[in-house]
Amino acid sequence: MQTMVTDSPEKAARFINDGGIVAFPTETVYGLGAAICHPEAVLRIFLAKGRPPDNPLIVHVARPEDVLKVADHIGSDAEKLIRRFFPGPLTIVLKKNSNVPDSVTAGLDTVGVRCPSNPDAHSFLQHCRCPVAAPSANLSGKPSSTSWRAVLEDLDGKIDCLFRGEPSAIGLESTIVDCSGPTPRLLRTGAVSMEELRSVVGALETSDCLLTDETPRSPGLKYPHYAPAARVVLCGSREPVTTPPGVRAAYIGLSVPEAGGLSLSRICRTPDEYARMLFDFFRLCDSRRIAVIYCELPPEEGIGRAIRDRLDRAASGH
Ligand code: AMP
Ligand code: MG
Repeated sequence: MQTMVTDSPEKAARFINDGGIVAFPTETVYGLGAAICHPEAVLRIFLAKGRPPDNPLIVHVARPEDVLKVADHIGSDAEKLIRRFFPGPLTIVLKKNSNVPDSVTAGLDTVGVRCPSNPDAHSFLQHCRCPVAAPSANLSGKPSSTSWRAVLEDLDGKIDCLFRGEPSAIGLESTIVDCSGPTPRLLRTGAVSMEELRSVVGALETSDCLLTDETPRSPGLKYPHYAPAARVVLCGSREPVTTPPGVRAAYIGLSVPEAGGLSLSRICRTPDEYARMLFDFFRLCDSRRIAVIYCELPPEEGIGRAIRDRLDRAASGH
């Protein structure tokens, strides 16, 4: 299959409306989308990515009020979150309505829904006739794609179209909050921080769902994620990094490491920059045949929590 690359949101949306699968930019990471009114196209997303079929997809809508296209009931906490954070890097999980096929939700009676703020994503979604189910546009298990080049690296020839846009401004996947139960529950950390969520909803369950896979309320969290081919080693701030002789090693972090013999290193000025660079750096390391990547753990606050979550998963192969 030939993958058509376009800069036109309208052209890209035409593929979606004809039942195709299309990668498109968003502020979090690139998504690989199909219209929810074309369930056979939704199934092709799983094939193209090699994604396990029990891992549900997030549905993307053009405008906050379009949430009603996939859910009939929006509780008061969900409504507050939508008012404050849509459009933006937040996914909320609600009871789904009958417009959403089982292939999107992997048989769950809930649906994750997000309204991206990236202007390209917005105009693309506006041209799509129904909401667009889209996981990250990468091969399953690999780091999410944060640039169109990363999308092509993984999916060229496997998808109908790539809508080429800017690199992702945030670089990490959306925060996910489950609003289908009595108390909102944080399922995945992201750029919308725990602190910000708490300032909007009174109570927020966080539990241990963030790093265990015993009771995965978010099924995708039990699968390997975000992992480069290289081994990821976590290190504390200014902890000396010892590179074994003859091993190609790299470093990414906020402070300058005490280390010699690194083949590649990236010092990020802020946690936001660290988030934006991380997956791209993982891919760069793989292309340069790096064996070990040392990653400094950022402070556990704001987006730092989301970076630590992705680093933990990459280091543990989860
Ligand atoms: P990705 O877009 O590739 O980051 O994957 C989507 C993530 O959203 C996965 O971790 C899914 O498990 C999660 N997700 C999607 N829909 C739901 C849902 N209805 N309930 C809980 N988690 C969901
Ligand atoms: Mg993903």
